[in-house]
Amino acid sequence: MALSVCAAKNCLQQQGDDFLLWSPSMFQHVEAYPGDPILSLNEAFGKDTRPGKINVSIGIYFDDNGKIPMLPSVRAAEHKVVNDAGARPYLPMEGAANFRSAVQHLLFGADSAAIKEGRVVTMQTVGSSGGLKIGGDFIKRYFPQSVMLVSDPTWDNHRAVFEGCGMTVKTYPYYDSTTGGLKFEAMLEALKAADKHSIVLLHACCHNPTGVDLSKEQWQALVPVIKERELIPFMDLAYQGYGDGIDEDAFAIRLFAEQGLSFFVANSFSKSMSLYGERCGALSVVCPDAAQAVNVLGQMKATIRRNYSNPPIHGGQLVAQVLSDATLRPMWEAEVKEMRERIQLMRRKLHDVLSAKVPGRDFSYFLTQRGMFSYTGLSAEQCDRLREEFGLYLVRSGRMCIAGLNSGNVEAAANAIAAVLK
Ligand code: PLP
Repeated sequence: MALSVCAAKNCLQQQGDDFLLWSPSMFQHVEAYPGDPILSLNEAFGKDTRPGKINVSIGIYFDDNGKIPMLPSVRAAEHKVVNDAGARPYLPMEGAANFRSAVQHLLFGADSAAIKEGRVVTMQTVGSSGGLKIGGDFIKRYFPQSVMLVSDPTWDNHRAVFEGCGMTVKTYPYYDSTTGGLKFEAMLEALKAADKHSIVLLHACCHNPTGVDLSKEQWQALVPVIKERELIPFMDLAYQGYGDGIDEDAFAIRLFAEQGLSFFVANSFSKSMSLYGERCGALSVVCPDAAQAVNVLGQMKATIRRNYSNPPIHGGQLVAQVLSDATLRPMWEAEVKEMRERIQLMRRKLHDVLSAKVPGRDFSYFLTQRGMFSYTGLSAEQCDRLREEFGLYLVRSGRMCIAGLNSGNVEAAANAIAAVLK
């Protein structure tokens, strides 16, 4: 049928027939997106032309040259994967078997009884963000009344993802701004008062945004409360290896599994393998027995099917190769150690310069907080000054990504912070 445009009436004119109206205001009710605060800062950093600018806003590990590293272990794995690559069928909904099995052993340990008993199911997901979303959708379906409790504060996207799943999100006390540490007693009291089957989002290590983690004793003290209140932990492990070590950072996950808890774990390879854009992550669920695990896996597959059908192949195969290859695995572990130790060195340097420049103020939190992030205690106005006057970009909450510092810029960053604190 021949159509022509009638501009005067804002409509399509069907030849010799009535006008077909279309609405010129179809999307007028769609409001402007204010942007993600962290990604927007990152964009502003990109546009800043000052040569001495420093980006400590986004949660990405940069090496001492200020570059995102391509880990040699991952590069070697990629050569092998590309050489061996064949046809590209769809993966199963739950992802590649070799990836899923390697992830289980990485998280729960090679000798995990829960794995041997068939109580753990693992799905390859689109980043660990995908794992959080799949887990949230599953929980909304099977625990519709459950509230999600997140730490105060937490990674901004936690609230966004779980509210996007239709869940109610509330907080439990966590960060103590007076000490730069943990409000553990208040956290425990809040969990003791939580409703049965509340979901408790816990950062397994390297808390984002504060860098404040639970000690082993504190994780142990959580177990009876979780059991008594029949809470369901949802562990987020996005920074494995950046705290104390690859196995050490899985302490809480292994403890919960050994103690017979049922829980979820979303884990990521964005940071630990520097594979941000490959979107490599997983969601695991530890179940009471193998029969329930079979049904959980089945319904997780259905949840994935409804979301994105199945995960991509390439990145997951790099991860599986690194984790299972006898040469590449120790190489990767050494690379993670190097990244961890470089961050620790930057923490020490920042602490030392600031302690010398701002006497009488305690900066020991830079040493006790772990992983990529520190809560600096800087106000939003101080962060604005740092950005505008010194080209030092950190999130307005005062969160700083220590992994954005290097031997060439750490002193300048410390001097700028000292200047706004005086
Ligand atoms: N969880 C936390 C605490 C994070 O900080 C991040 C990323 O910054 C993620 C999850 C998501 O990571 P991924 O890149 O695997 O989606």
